[in-house]
Amino acid sequence: MSDQRQEIEGSTIVEIIQINKELSVLFKNLVEYSEKLRKVSSRNAKIDIIISFLQKLARKEAEIGVNFISGNMRQGKLNIAWKGLHELLNTAPSRSKKSPQLTEVDAYLDQTKSARGQKKIKELAPLVARLTDSERKYLVSIIVADVQQGAGEGLVKMAIARFFGLRDDDIEFAAMRKPDIGKLFLYLLEKGKTGIKDIGIQIFSPVKPMLAEIAQSLDDVFEEYTDFAVEHKLDGVRVQVHKQGDEVKIFSRHLRDITLHFPELVDIARKLPMEECILDGEAVGIGKDGRPLPFQVLAQRTTRKKDIAIMKDKVPVQPQFFDILYSNGNDLTSKQYRERWRLLNRMISTKDYVASRTLPKNKRSAETFLEKSVARGNEGVMVKLLDSPYRPGRRGKFWLKIKIAHTVDCVILAAEWGHGRRRGWLSNLHLGVLDETRTKFLMVGKTFKGLTDAMLTWLTNNLPRYKVHEDSWTVYVKPEVVVEIAFNEVQKSPKYESGVALRFARVKRIREDKQPGEINTIIDLEKLAKIGGRDEL
Ligand code: AMP
Repeated sequence: MSDQRQEIEGSTIVEIIQINKELSVLFKNLVEYSEKLRKVSSRNAKIDIIISFLQKLARKEAEIGVNFISGNMRQGKLNIAWKGLHELLNTAPSRSKKSPQLTEVDAYLDQTKSARGQKKIKELAPLVARLTDSERKYLVSIIVADVQQGAGEGLVKMAIARFFGLRDDDIEFAAMRKPDIGKLFLYLLEKGKTGIKDIGIQIFSPVKPMLAEIAQSLDDVFEEYTDFAVEHKLDGVRVQVHKQGDEVKIFSRHLRDITLHFPELVDIARKLPMEECILDGEAVGIGKDGRPLPFQVLAQRTTRKKDIAIMKDKVPVQPQFFDILYSNGNDLTSKQYRERWRLLNRMISTKDYVASRTLPKNKRSAETFLEKSVARGNEGVMVKLLDSPYRPGRRGKFWLKIKIAHTVDCVILAAEWGHGRRRGWLSNLHLGVLDETRTKFLMVGKTFKGLTDAMLTWLTNNLPRYKVHEDSWTVYVKPEVVVEIAFNEVQKSPKYESGVALRFARVKRIREDKQPGEINTIIDLEKLAKIGGRDEL
């Protein structure tokens, strides 16, 4: 151990930070720490490891290091395809094996972020050439946000709290306002732990947008809640608009500055009557017929940096604001949604710029509103509890999204024996769709929902006829039986070879009238998933 390191072991945190001004953490050290994290299972042991990593960070690498140890990077997504990453893993090693400093890795990632297409690989290759196999794998896992160390942002926040002698709640609260925990850590290093009191919403500093949980149906919502509003769920681009006098900035869902892309929104924001505000909403593309444009068309507004003026005419957008987080010096996030909505409406006189909403009298009126929303080209509705605060970055039950259910025809690939009341019945179904060549079936999910007693009887009597093999839980069958499946969403899933999974899948009918060759394909599902679209932002 070097003298400097020995000195650190016996020092206080403040002294360590002083000493660390001179030191730099190497990428290989980070990988060693991640390895240590992977090897222990207790939360406290993991937190201790993270704290000792934080202690090693010099101020200049504090933000970078905190992001890395949480399995993230400051740059967000790099959008490199799997093929490119594979190429990187196989980069020929350079002669110099000097492990790069964290700051060097970060600089490479910055350059990669701004490069396009194949050039991204070229930017990263010299860095990767200096890494060992395990370091390469670790870098790739950060790039694809799949670091397997059993510790993510949650534990790092706890470690930061203990590092500064703060409560977990203090850090949680501060992280809602300063969602980049790397920046939060640096801020606390600079201001000291008492700086936590001054963290509030600030104009031109984006806050993570509040998110919604998925709800299966309005029936479920009415069963569980009473005081809520229902808004159109618009299919656009999330925008957080910050205004101070004539100055306006617009941030995306991932806190990217997208001001330049939406000059018309800047104009609209400038004309708003308040001096200072932060509004949350959706930028929606408006077609010639006045109806919303599909998201894929609108997405061109945020991906094409050139031709902004041309794109503005080709794909005009309109804001649909649905929340206000700050106005004239006041942080409104802890106020109730009913009050924020009132303020929003008082401030925005053009009603076309505010999302449509209703306070439904009963289920029927909510259903009619949902049908109208979908008929207008929207995705569904958002249900918002009237007494809820705005919780930046949180996905919780204060906001619920309901998308209209889709249906697909799937084939049954296997069925698991049921438990409890369903013991003795073939119940949990493995579902498949056809691949793009229509020659192979790909699994896209499992469900035991929606099965009536009559269906369970039919399946238990008929499926064993197609049995290929079986284990103690599952009967695997030839793909012969077609079922109609309702679902709310298609999501990316590394679990299945197909790469996607159906969310809230439920069986609607057994389609004895359909052949397996007639069922839906993976392409149909990918269209619904719009995979990649929103991730760009
Ligand atoms: P999802 O992307 O399916 O998770 O749905 C959440 C997204 O819906 C938000 O990030 C917004 O971009 C969008 N959205 C559309 N309409 C609304 C609305 N009325 N309130 C909140 N979010 C909405």
